Amino acid sequence: MNDTLENVMSSKFKECTVIHTEAVSEDLRLIRFSSDLSDVHFEPAYAIGIRVSEKDYRNYSPFSFNKHAGTFDVIFHLHDTDAVGSRFASRLSVGETTKILMPRGKRFFEPNAEIHFSIGDATSLGSSLSIKEAAEEIGGSFVCLHELEEPSALKELELYGYHAPKNDIQNIIEALTDFLKEEKQALQNNEVVFYLTGNGNTMSVIRKFLKAKGIDSKCIRSQAYWMEGKRGL
Ligand SMILES: Cc1cc2nc3c(=O)[nH]c(=O)nc-3n(C[C@H](O)[C@H](O)[C@H](O)COP(=O)(O)OP(=O)(O)OC[C@H]3O[C@@H](n4cnc5c(N)ncnc54)[C@H](O)[C@@H]3O)c2cc1C
Repeated sequence: MNDTLENVMSSKFKECTVIHTEAVSEDLRLIRFSSDLSDVHFEPAYAIGIRVSEKDYRNYSPFSFNKHAGTFDVIFHLHDTDAVGSRFASRLSVGETTKILMPRGKRFFEPNAEIHFSIGDATSLGSSLSIKEAAEEIGGSFVCLHELEEPSALKELELYGYHAPKNDIQNIIEALTDFLKEEKQALQNNEVVFYLTGNGNTMSVIRKFLKAKGIDSKCIRSQAYWMEGKRGL
């Protein structure tokens, strides 16, 4: 079935070679792929599809997507090495090739915003980095908040911003409350766009909070990356 899909949609798949791997932390692995990307359209927070087993595909977020050099990076959260996606990502090594469904998705990034605020967890680091790259390219500001076990990864990735320990929604709300106070004027002018990704349940609490604080829904973009008990969103 998946072989048929790859044949029918062959133009959407590319053979990609692993050219670099790096442990960002104990459970975060950065992998750089190389391929012919000259005809591939990319937007921040687009996702690639990787066939992680005979039957399963999983979505991941490329960043540093360089059409000309033919390279892109992905940060894999190795949440459980018994899960097919995590296991696949933990075993990929330099020189291996794999067929990847090229980036696709809904338009997420809002180029007209003054401040781009990416909020998520360990699965959101790649999309945060692609949003940061795009924001900086057009002279916008970038802010982020990540729910992570270890804040040191954020420094390593140059994702300076708010950090909240895992499963501590109160901490997230406090950080957001500080931001809302600091950026009152920009918020009133609808100049801030919030990008919510990561754990679906956490995201919906944050979305409700922002809306209760008067943030216009057109300034909130969200996409769940995983949900407790669900395999491969
Ligand atoms: C558009 C999009 C972009 C994404 N980008 C990235 C990315 O760049 N990097 C990345 O690491 N992930 C990313 N994800 C999330 C990733 O696809 C999921 O975490 C996926 O479920 C991992 O597959 P798996 O086989 O390891 O686990 P699964 O077999 O899918 O899940 C097994 C169990 O683990 C739980 N689970 C799944 N993911 C996590 C997690 N991260 N932490 C804790 N428990 C979890 C599930 O609820 C389930 O109970 C993205 C998802 C989407 C939809």
